[in-house]
Amino acid sequence: MTTADVAIVGGGFTGAAFAIHLSRMAERSLDIVIVEPRDRLGRGLAYDTADPDHRLNAPLEVHFLYPDAPGHLRDWYAGQGGPARDPDALAADGNIYLRRGDFGCYVEEQLRAHIAGNPSGSTIRHLRSRALAARRTSSGYRLTLDDGREVSAGLTVLAAGYDRPTAPPPFDGAISDCPGFLGDPWDTARLREIPADARVLLLGMAQTASDVIAVLLRSGHRGPIAAVSRHGLRTRHRPQSGSGPPPDVVDRIVRPVSLFSAAHGRHTSVRGLLRTLRAEARRVETAGGSWLEPFGDLRDSVWDVWPALPLEEKRRFLRHLRVWYDVHRFQLPPQIEARIAEAEAAGQVSFEAASCVSAAYDNSAFTVTLQPRGSGERRRETFDAIVNCTGPGMRPDRSTNPFVRALAAEGFAAPHPAGIGFSVEEECRAIGAGGHADPRLRIVGPLTYGAFADQQGASFIALRLYRTVPDIVAALRR
Ligand SMILES: Cc1cc2nc3c(=O)[nH]c(=O)nc-3n(C[C@H](O)[C@H](O)[C@H](O)COP(=O)(O)OP(=O)(O)OC[C@H]3O[C@@H](n4cnc5c(N)ncnc54)[C@H](O)[C@@H]3O)c2cc1C
Repeated sequence: MTTADVAIVGGGFTGAAFAIHLSRMAERSLDIVIVEPRDRLGRGLAYDTADPDHRLNAPLEVHFLYPDAPGHLRDWYAGQGGPARDPDALAADGNIYLRRGDFGCYVEEQLRAHIAGNPSGSTIRHLRSRALAARRTSSGYRLTLDDGREVSAGLTVLAAGYDRPTAPPPFDGAISDCPGFLGDPWDTARLREIPADARVLLLGMAQTASDVIAVLLRSGHRGPIAAVSRHGLRTRHRPQSGSGPPPDVVDRIVRPVSLFSAAHGRHTSVRGLLRTLRAEARRVETAGGSWLEPFGDLRDSVWDVWPALPLEEKRRFLRHLRVWYDVHRFQLPPQIEARIAEAEAAGQVSFEAASCVSAAYDNSAFTVTLQPRGSGERRRETFDAIVNCTGPGMRPDRSTNPFVRALAAEGFAAPHPAGIGFSVEEECRAIGAGGHADPRLRIVGPLTYGAFADQQGASFIALRLYRTVPDIVAALRR
């Protein structure tokens, strides 16, 4: 049995950032363990990639680990040789879009430095395993790991990040087990095994699909790649007039009232928000600016705007507007956007608003019946491979992650009533099925979407951790 003051489940960006900030701020030496099956910490799903086309979706300056030193990443990058190390990082808009693997390297190095020494003299250990279940004890939680080990900790922090996407209908049955169906779009090794001439169908056409297209093109794929989605919404083009040096993110997020609420008042309906946003976009565009300016103000105000929305409005947003929000929120790095546009112009890559009505597998190929949006016509097409790019699942009670499912099933952490992530209160204490917040179980990162909404970008996550850790330090004092 391993005992610790703090057990962090998940050692991706969020788990690593949490360990770093806790070891910096703790008032006494803590024994911190990070349970993470990957051999490298700090990378997780987003940054554990060696693919040169997997780049950060926003300029370097927008990403930080230390809200109190936002220039730290830029200095680190310069110390690594800057653009000389990766000439493609400098995009036509004059900004640097780091390879995600390089950002992962930065976070990993920072954590390693804190493992070697940190202001509180805490120890940080990596248990290379996967947490499966938890039970409450008189002093905290006892975790069961998949290698049979147990960890007993006073404070447990869930930083398990994203779930794998679940196959949508009509692929949710046995067909998703057929060879050629790739349920995990981030399994780049399997993507590269797709034969170069294969006809590939991508379910989804947003950022995940773009990542997959980039991997296929880089590995010399010659066959057609068709991306379909019901809405047909594609990641929005990054407007040139909205480029230039990125704004100071910390300054935009750390303020008593958000930019959007200060300018337009508090909104309590998504319809009202949308109306204001559209009017602002029209006004700015008429003056020669870009929609990205008011949209960016809203994005950087979500920490303030989201909690003010009543539950039914949050549900309305998730049902109808989230897809639309996401294609504006997550733009592609210009380098990847250009590569995909080239393949689209050459006719190799296509995007279509269409539903997959039925699918069958026979003789190593899939026959899919497609119905274009707004049309009564259906047509059948044959594909050799299908990749599920519908985006990560976010319902804890239906998670493919046994530990996340177990916390929900035991009632230690209740799914958020909006239908996404877990319920937590302001300091990330998990709210259990009985409605009580548990100071011994904290949930951080994307799994807190229902409570905070924009806990997806690295900087938003880092900032919330930075603000939450002092409360945790106080709890550990007692
Ligand atoms: C493909 C992709 C690209 C992205 N690009 C950007 C970007 O350019 N810029 C940006 O700001 N944000 C980006 N994001 C958002 C990104 O998710 C956050 O920046 C951040 O990386 C989230 O990290 P995380 O550690 O919470 O989650 P994850 O990266 O999902 O990591 C979670 C970790 O927890 C581990 N884990 C899960 N379950 C268990 C368990 N039961 N036991 C032990 N360990 C467990 C997993 O192995 C994993 O390593 C991207 C996200 C994705 C998916």
